[in-house]
Amino acid sequence: DPYVADDRRYDGVPYRRVGESGLQLPAVSLGLWHNFGDDKPLQTQRDILRRAFDLGVTHFDLANNYGPPPGSAERNFGTLFAEDFRPYRDQLIISSKAGWDMQPGPYGFGGSRKYLLSSLDNSLRRMGLDHVDVFYSHRPDPATPLEETMGALHTAVTSGRALYVGISSYSAELTARAQEIMRGLGTPLLIHQPSYSMLNRWVERGDGSGPSLLETTAAEGMGVIAFSPLAQGLLTDRYLGGVPEDSRAAAGKSLSGGMLSAENLARVRGLAAIAADRGQTLAQMAIAWVLRSPAVTSALIGASSVAQLEDSVGAVANLGFTADELAAIDEFAVD
Ligand code: NDP
Repeated sequence: DPYVADDRRYDGVPYRRVGESGLQLPAVSLGLWHNFGDDKPLQTQRDILRRAFDLGVTHFDLANNYGPPPGSAERNFGTLFAEDFRPYRDQLIISSKAGWDMQPGPYGFGGSRKYLLSSLDNSLRRMGLDHVDVFYSHRPDPATPLEETMGALHTAVTSGRALYVGISSYSAELTARAQEIMRGLGTPLLIHQPSYSMLNRWVERGDGSGPSLLETTAAEGMGVIAFSPLAQGLLTDRYLGGVPEDSRAAAGKSLSGGMLSAENLARVRGLAAIAADRGQTLAQMAIAWVLRSPAVTSALIGASSVAQLEDSVGAVANLGFTADELAAIDEFAVD
């Protein structure tokens, strides 16, 4: 049946301003890295996207290579967008990225102007969009001058292909240099997308003597959207009784066996007990925890079912932490 969005969709999830920009993002955003390729039923994908938007999750995050196979997540999203979401285009923030390996040959990876702009055109074609809201350089490329990569992002905006641009997984130092270039071009970077979770705290630490990534983004007026806040599912109840057959770890892809070490599982159990004391699931506490810093705009989650999505979005019911809770979490939240 045709999709009609829930009238109460803006009553639940809070929206947070992205750095010093005029844009706001939902505290919880949905990523389509896993669970939206050709290996997953389109109906499940549709159910997850519809429920997300009905809950106020206005931001869907994609990249050229999401699948499998690469490109299929954007193509599947394009199908569902055309059928369900076209009337709501202006109520959605849709992002894509280029940087990681996409196609064979020298123009299918990295940070060149050639790759970034041709990839963005292909992403727009697959999704059936005339622009994305945010386009990212997916990773730093030491083989390409930073000026060239930033120049391509600037062109993405001035040519009308993207409203805003961002960077992902750049160090604090490289982020400051990139923002200086972009300010000079008149297109400041909106946002940084780093990994961040209770088991992965690099964004809080300075690289050597310099400021941390979170200090840098705040000083540069940029927002932050934290990817894999559940450590790909480890920071949930998913693996407490073994490895479920339908889990990401069982699929043997990006969540490797090493992450399921006895040491990490002991941390997860310790954190689960703290979450229970707060009246939350561990997934909910893990999401609330990355949002405790005002420097972090949104928690970028994945979900393989509507039930997971609903559980995770429920994090917004309790985003506050006492100093005692934070100290108790610090005993287990080490990487
Ligand atoms: P998460 O850390 O949120 O992991 C999601 C996985 O955790 C799900 O697939 C599911 O695992 C499990 N899960 C989710 N919610 C629950 C729940 N409530 N209870 C139990 N288990 C749950 O994030 P992802 O690693 O999926 O990354 C999220 C997004 O971040 C990506 O889609 C992408 O948009 C972005 N990203 C960006 C990167 C970059 O380089 N910029 C890199 C990686 C991600 P299962 O499938 O086993 O059920």
